[in-house]
Amino acid sequence: MPVSTGTMEITDDGRATLLGGRCRACAAPHFPLAATCPYCGAGSVERMELPHRGTLWGWTAVTTAPPGYEGPVPYGFGVVELGGELRIITRITEVDPSALSFGQPVELVVDTVGATGDGDDLVAWAFSPASSAVGRSAGTQPGSAGERA
Ligand SMILES: [Zn+2]
Repeated sequence: MPVSTGTMEITDDGRATLLGGRCRACAAPHFPLAATCPYCGAGSVERMELPHRGTLWGWTAVTTAPPGYEGPVPYGFGVVELGGELRIITRITEVDPSALSFGQPVELVVDTVGATGDGDDLVAWAFSPASSAVGRSAGTQPGSAGERA
């Protein structure tokens, strides 16, 4: 059972897709899907499935559980750029900030963060370092590695 409904679809094979929107007036993408464009206020938005892979843009580790959160801490948290046009805030499966690098390829995964009262898994989307990590560099890291949220 997803933590929040309406932000993603999970198919029978366990693959998740995030659902955003694209404004028909100004063409700007947004996430999560809203009925009204958050940038120009137009009421004409089309549903858009977001790419499953993106690049890491900024990250940190959360070491204190936010109110109401009962999943494991610490957990990774950051910003991922999708399709070169949209940056979203997301959980990151890697909890060690020093193991991540700016521009690193990441992919969407379904992460178990707890259980419901009925014992079903409570799942959330997250991004994980892509299995075929290419383009890694040991250069400077504009991301905020090591900062607390
Ligand atoms: Zn718009």
